[in-house]
Amino acid sequence: MTFDVLTIFPEFFRGPFEHGVVARARMAGALDIRVHDLRRWTSDRHRTVDDRPFGGGEGMLLKPGPVFEAAETIWPERTPARKIVLLSAQGRLFDQSVAREWTALEGLLLICGRYEGVDERVAEHLADEEISIGDYVLSGGELAAAVVIDAVARLLPGVLGNEESAKNESFSGTGEEIRLDCPQYTRPAEFRGWKAPETLLSGNHEEIRRWRKLAAVEKTRRLRPDLLERRLAGREVSETGTREAQ
Ligand code: SAH
Repeated sequence: MTFDVLTIFPEFFRGPFEHGVVARARMAGALDIRVHDLRRWTSDRHRTVDDRPFGGGEGMLLKPGPVFEAAETIWPERTPARKIVLLSAQGRLFDQSVAREWTALEGLLLICGRYEGVDERVAEHLADEEISIGDYVLSGGELAAAVVIDAVARLLPGVLGNEESAKNESFSGTGEEIRLDCPQYTRPAEFRGWKAPETLLSGNHEEIRRWRKLAAVEKTRRLRPDLLERRLAGREVSETGTREAQ
């Protein structure tokens, strides 16, 4: 899969993809990440990418011209297997199910906004989707693009050393199964007087499996009750037959 990133700060991406799983996958050719400097698609002496908003107001906006021209150069042809995504605080919330869905794509082109945002015509006529990584405002789309790439890349075949590790982790279930990963412990078995749960040291695989499942549900209930409520709400709705489970 190929990730293209359009940004006015290409050097921002030097760090995030040079370590760990994503860096190894890149070296092995399992994925490709190409970072493009938006200023390449400007024609004036100052390489201007921004302008004042019509109607007045604070700050500057990214102009549509360079963004459209960049996207049209990077992908001269659009296909359904390639998605143009505008990172935006106003977008649909990115989560693990969106990450999973996008692993089926050939390519993602991620447009990073800056300043007060991006001329709305990019959202209206160029991007397939506007995506937010959470209900807060960042100063630019670069961190958000890095989050999206990391989350999608590690789900691609051959990227995680062990395919099983993606199966049991938090949010890996679908529908009724959605929950957090279970708590994990490593040596020493006793640390500052706090013991790791005995079941995990017992060597009894069936008991360990049962303990993990219960502990995962308990932790979900404690820290993310909304995940369980969503699950119950989905079940009630589908039982009354009025609407499909979410
Ligand atoms: N005026 C905008 C915020 C602009 S922030 C508003 O109030 O909605 C500048 C840029 O940062 C945005 O164009 C977007 O690309 C990026 N950004 C900010 N918050 C984001 C978020 N939660 N998710 C994804 N991108 C975000």
